[in-house]
Amino acid sequence: MANESPVNVVIVGAGLGGLSAAIAIARSGHRVKVVEQAPKLGEVGAGIQIPPNSARILERWGILPKLREGAMHPEFIAIRSYRDGSLLSLQKLRPLMEDVYGAPYLHIHRATLHSVLCDEATRLGVKFQLGATATGIDFEKTAVKVKDQADVAADFILGADGLRSACRESLLGRSDPSHNTGDMAYRVVIPTSEMKKYKELVDFATIPSFNHWAGPGGHAVGYLIAGGSIFNMVIIVPDELPDNVYSAKANVNEMRDKFKCWCPEFRHMLRMVTDVSAWKLRNSTEMETWRHPDGNFALLGDACHATLPYLAQGAAQAVEDGAVIGALFAKAQDKDEIKDALNIYERLRKSRTSRVVQESSQYGAVMHLPDGEEQRERDRQMTDHEPFEGYPNKWADPVFQNYLFGYDADAVAVEAWNEYKAGKERIQRG
Ligand SMILES: Cc1cc2nc3c(=O)[nH]c(=O)nc-3n(C[C@H](O)[C@H](O)[C@H](O)COP(=O)(O)OP(=O)(O)OC[C@H]3O[C@@H](n4cnc5c(N)ncnc54)[C@H](O)[C@@H]3O)c2cc1C
Repeated sequence: MANESPVNVVIVGAGLGGLSAAIAIARSGHRVKVVEQAPKLGEVGAGIQIPPNSARILERWGILPKLREGAMHPEFIAIRSYRDGSLLSLQKLRPLMEDVYGAPYLHIHRATLHSVLCDEATRLGVKFQLGATATGIDFEKTAVKVKDQADVAADFILGADGLRSACRESLLGRSDPSHNTGDMAYRVVIPTSEMKKYKELVDFATIPSFNHWAGPGGHAVGYLIAGGSIFNMVIIVPDELPDNVYSAKANVNEMRDKFKCWCPEFRHMLRMVTDVSAWKLRNSTEMETWRHPDGNFALLGDACHATLPYLAQGAAQAVEDGAVIGALFAKAQDKDEIKDALNIYERLRKSRTSRVVQESSQYGAVMHLPDGEEQRERDRQMTDHEPFEGYPNKWADPVFQNYLFGYDADAVAVEAWNEYKAGKERIQRG
């Protein structure tokens, strides 16, 4: 789309957040360059969930059909007890998500999502500078400082460089290391060809679904990716990695030992695991502001609102950030309006992402309850009641589900922009 007053935008970081912003801003007619430290574009990890609130955006960008091809369409979310595998809560996803929210819930390989986003950004004319590590931002010159390379100047810079963000530290003007959350994630993949050999695992290996086991001190999720050939699992336990180690290969037997009291199906799956990595789950402290007062810089994605992954919303929130900023940049006519657009971006996005961060932590606390009365009460609420506001399965909580999945980033941005313009006109008229 042509823009009457295009600006040069530089985005630091080609993760799922940076790429989403690149697409949204390029679609709004501006020139975009992405500066990425890695020498090659790519994404670490196996599976990722795409909930309707981000699928809706990807649909508007015209890339959902491509993603659907490589994705699994889960039928339901099932929360089970760690103890005996009994079903505590079942939330239909298909066709409910598309019927109610107009967009699907998908499971996909991270590499597929990342490469589809890269292809679309490239098609839109986004340029990439790879092997370029940002060391900070020169706010006066509006330039990204790059290690051993020339500064990259822009009219506007977006810091999308993830949790350990040099851009965030530059904005704060001080070091701001992420902190431990006390949890870590085991990430494993199991070939479904193995699982299908066993009657009690056939359903997990063949029915696309979002499986969830609630246990004491941790929880686990598992879902199919790669055309159903892989069962992707993320298992949350108390963090045991040394302080300065963020991820490491882990010992399979030590992992299995932690689940000796879990149900037979779950233990059976773990017996099929040959390789496991452990990831320390870290977070940053909520910031007062994500943007520079000069109106030439803002943060986006994990760089400013990293979350525990328990609601599977981290990347989805970054995609929403990108969509909101793109929709506002499509409207802004000059640098003053871009500055105002940033105020609106922060106002819209900070409250929503802060709530998602808090709800994710709270979900972990509920799903990790130790054995005892509180845990029994949690399970009773899920089995004995229809979902209600505050229901432990947050995806089934009718109020929160609507808040999470019903959010239309473009509509929210356009409405806020129209209000802003109406206010500006009122002031001009006196
Ligand atoms: C176990 C786990 C499971 C998850 N599951 C889900 C899920 O199912 N659904 C979901 O929506 N979210 C999920 N998330 C969260 C999601 O992965 C993140 O929120 C998301 O990937 C953040 O994207 P980002 O682009 O903001 O940051 P990042 O992915 O961290 O990307 C940052 C990019 O910036 C680059 N970079 C960093 N520093 C510099 C620098 N100084 N100079 C230049 N480049 C730099 C990096 O190389 C990287 O490419 C999960 C997270 C975890 C840990």
